[in-house]
Amino acid sequence: MSQTAGILEQAEQHCRERGSRMTEKRKRVLSGLVDSDKALSAYELIDYCKEQFGENIPAMSIYRILAFLEEEGLVHKLNLANKYVACAHICCDHSHGVPQFLICGGCSKVKEITVNPAMISELKKSAEQAGFTMMSQQLEMDCLCDECMGSAA
Ligand SMILES: [Zn+2]
Ligand SMILES: [Zn+2]
Ligand SMILES: [Zn+2]
Repeated sequence: MSQTAGILEQAEQHCRERGSRMTEKRKRVLSGLVDSDKALSAYELIDYCKEQFGENIPAMSIYRILAFLEEEGLVHKLNLANKYVACAHICCDHSHGVPQFLICGGCSKVKEITVNPAMISELKKSAEQAGFTMMSQQLEMDCLCDECMGSAA
């Protein structure tokens, strides 16, 4: 079984346990995200489904499917880029806190990480002192991955 197939299998199992249903369409959209190490927009996913499965999924449905997958904790939305990534922990049993994301400005690769909660409270405090309230604890950080860093040097 390919790695993607294994992850999709887990995702299906996860939905079954929660009493929700992983339909074929939902699976296709999720497979697009699992297959990509970059974040994808809804429109990129529409193209992916057209190319891979010859299926035309209207934008409305894609957004609904993405909302479902997000609700199930299988995908995360990057708010700044307005794009989506598959959760890196679909195959783990443990639950994770608020995910943080490293985004490479060179190749657009995205990595999901978990940071120390104390750091987030620290940030929150600093924001409050500056007269701002953090509306999301999900950080999306502008980075360069090692490969892009290496090719830049
Ligand atoms: Zn995750
Ligand atoms: Zn994990
Ligand atoms: Zn990179």
